[in-house]
Amino acid sequence: MGKITGFLEFDRKVESYQDVDKRVKNYKEFTVPMKEKELKEQGARCMDCGIPFCHSGCPLGNLIPDFNDAVYRGKWEKAAGILHSTNNFPEFTGRLCPAPCEEACVLGINEDPVSIENIEKNIVETAFEKGWIIAQPPATRTEKKVAIIGSGPAGLAAAQQLNRAGHTVTVFERDEKPGGLLRYGIPDFKMEKHVIDRRLKVLEEEGIEFKCSVHVGVDVNAEELKNDFDAVVLCGGATVRRNLPIKGSNLKGVVQAMDFLPQNNRRVDGVKKFENEILATDKDVIVIGGGDTGSDCIGTSIRHGAKSVSNFEIMPMATEERPAGQPWPFWPMRLRTSSSHKEGAERFFSISTKEFIGDKDGNLKGLITAEVEWIKQAGQRPILKEVEGTEKEWKCELALLAMGFTGSEMTIAEQLGLEADARTNIRAYENNYMTNVPGVFVAGDQRRGQSLIVWAISEGRQAAYHIDTFLMGESYLPFKGEGDLPRV
Ligand SMILES: Cc1cc2nc3c(=O)[nH]c(=O)nc-3n(C[C@H](O)[C@H](O)[C@H](O)COP(=O)(O)OP(=O)(O)OC[C@H]3O[C@@H](n4cnc5c(N)ncnc54)[C@H](O)[C@@H]3O)c2cc1C
Ligand code: SF4
Repeated sequence: MGKITGFLEFDRKVESYQDVDKRVKNYKEFTVPMKEKELKEQGARCMDCGIPFCHSGCPLGNLIPDFNDAVYRGKWEKAAGILHSTNNFPEFTGRLCPAPCEEACVLGINEDPVSIENIEKNIVETAFEKGWIIAQPPATRTEKKVAIIGSGPAGLAAAQQLNRAGHTVTVFERDEKPGGLLRYGIPDFKMEKHVIDRRLKVLEEEGIEFKCSVHVGVDVNAEELKNDFDAVVLCGGATVRRNLPIKGSNLKGVVQAMDFLPQNNRRVDGVKKFENEILATDKDVIVIGGGDTGSDCIGTSIRHGAKSVSNFEIMPMATEERPAGQPWPFWPMRLRTSSSHKEGAERFFSISTKEFIGDKDGNLKGLITAEVEWIKQAGQRPILKEVEGTEKEWKCELALLAMGFTGSEMTIAEQLGLEADARTNIRAYENNYMTNVPGVFVAGDQRRGQSLIVWAISEGRQAAYHIDTFLMGESYLPFKGEGDLPRV
């Protein structure tokens, strides 16, 4: 445990942010590091509650009180070992996780919860700085070969676990560099891409092969996969974007968030020319969709130098407090305000876009909205109703559609003969991540639908355990939350 009286002595503290004026001038991360003494005090707040609900709050089952205690005692290398025993990539989750663990922290019942995510980030950053994170290739190799399709957090976690079990792992990625949404969705101001490259170097040194710019299903077909590999894992994400099929949606200036964000991440990475340049500079921008993707569009538009940025959300504004029906330790649907929201966007709730308006050349110049209300019905989903007389016209030259994803692409899944549900999430059976085709597995957003990085890592790890069992008859890879040998 941390210090017995730590939670009484120290208030919660997390890294602060640079001022908005300064941070929006570039795409760099903008958190201000904390001193070691402050971090130890935060670890000291963990109060040995007996039943650590944070363990079950974390989809990885991270051993949170153990690493908090190690941090409190200044045993950073031990903390890094504990953390990596359940999480392959704490540098991703330590920056980007919404931290369901903190919502389940016992201290959070009547105080501010332990700042678990921030502690996690600082443990892994210390470990990289001190050179403790080095390649650990397996001592021996099996003769089994595994193909992983997709290099997002699910694919990378599965790759590292399977490689540790001694299998020869090839990761296929259709983008030019690995990382999935970590690289081409999430902007650099939330996570600079050298953070991914640093980890990829370790994975390559461990013996994992990455084949980029290879679209499986197009450049490599199902037969080739079956012939060349003993097992195949689909980690292709949930990439089919939700559309807004209303009048004017084909106007120039109505753009999918996932065209806007990847292009900007490539621009930040040094790519100079694009066929259709999408810039928010000097425009009135409206971001439709109030989630993570919408928030990333806001921060990016502000960095482009947009004239104004508004954010529409069709759901009503949630409260900052836990809603009554979502008690501790469950994840509550409360109002979340991101660092991007605070950079100058105006947010509107219970609002629906009815029509885009164009000029004579087909360029977007505005849009029409109406306020909506959600009518509750006993035993059924609430229905959406427009509030009469609330139509409004807005000036807008760039509308960014950030309304989520409807499922996964099916090309390679169809070639392999895989079953999917109505949302095109690939079906896996008996909790072993194997599809209806023996030897073909699925993990991450392609199995569970649009989700979180922490879930993708968790699924990649669990799938690896089952693939190893399928190949070898048994597996020494860890189950969820069990932790493997403490190693960095
Ligand atoms: C803009 C945005 C911001 C987000 N922010 C956060 C956040 O802050 N915190 C958080 O926890 N989650 C966030 N998420 C969600 C999170 O990024 C995803 O849940 C997570 O990345 C899913 O991981 P994955 O490995 O399943 O798939 P992905 O990360 O989507 O990776 C799938 C990869 O597979 C590749 N691929 C697909 N099909 C093929 C094929 N046939 N051949 C070869 N390669 C293929 C794709 O190119 C891609 O690289 C965000 C999502 C978006 C879109
Ligand atoms: S991965 Fe996310 S849920 Fe798990 S301990 Fe870290 S911040 Fe909490």
